[in-house]
Amino acid sequence: MFRFPRLALLPLVALVAVACAAPPAAAPGAGDGLQVTVSVLPLRYLVERIGGGHVVANVMVGPGDEPHSYEPKPEQLRALSRSVAYLTAGVEFEDVWMDRIADANRSMEIVDTTAGVDLLPLEGHGDHEGEMDPHVWVSPRRARILAENIRDALARLDPAHAEEYDANLAALLADIDALAEEMDAALGGARGRRFLVFHPAWGYLADDYGLVQVAVEVGGQEPSAAEMAALLNTAREESIRVVFAQPNLSTRAAETIAAEIGGRVVLVDPLAEDWLANLREVTASLAEALAEE
Ligand SMILES: [Zn+2]
Repeated sequence: MFRFPRLALLPLVALVAVACAAPPAAAPGAGDGLQVTVSVLPLRYLVERIGGGHVVANVMVGPGDEPHSYEPKPEQLRALSRSVAYLTAGVEFEDVWMDRIADANRSMEIVDTTAGVDLLPLEGHGDHEGEMDPHVWVSPRRARILAENIRDALARLDPAHAEEYDANLAALLADIDALAEEMDAALGGARGRRFLVFHPAWGYLADDYGLVQVAVEVGGQEPSAAEMAALLNTAREESIRVVFAQPNLSTRAAETIAAEIGGRVVLVDPLAEDWLANLREVTASLAEALAEE
């Protein structure tokens, strides 16, 4: 009875001891870059574009992880001791974890990258009445503000490279503006049109281009039979053929609707790391879907 837990615990205890003994400053392979931590992958893209070779951005919610209910791993919290700043995007897990994130490194600056962004209310996004839609980065107009906030933070934390951060920001903003123009050309003719998505992650993009996002998810849940019937009605009335879903969430309800309307499910990822290429792809998918209606 006693043997099993003791044997099982030994390697774990040894591992913890080794981890604790390692000096926090010795970041293996981190070079001498400024270390920061960000919440989601699109934010890492923006930070690395502006930081160039001077900044290493660790990420909390990695590929395939779910940002609404994410729980930082103990080693991620420990690794915060090496970060000079934590850059938030105001995603849900951060509301729950921010105190513990801050406690993990009291000298780490907490930077709200969404400061100054006009937020929109959350739709169909769980029992979060009165909360704002966290997916701000899917709007180029708002991503501009995130980028400027990131530049300000990096220049403050590392004034020696401030000029480089300025130049990198200018190049990034030029890319964002070019993307916004492409999106305007592709989606501008579709003002007022509806598109169907499983999880309402595209509200800010819809807002930028005058589109209407209709969410399959209601209050963070799959729709009831009555809600499903209403969705099918909307889809048929507007001859919607595409139901957008995302790779890290269930596509079951989306597939049910697609089958009912003789349409198809198209995957779009609000959390892809290559922010610029991804929004281009999403725009093409959206434009194609709207052209079929
Ligand atoms: Zn979401």
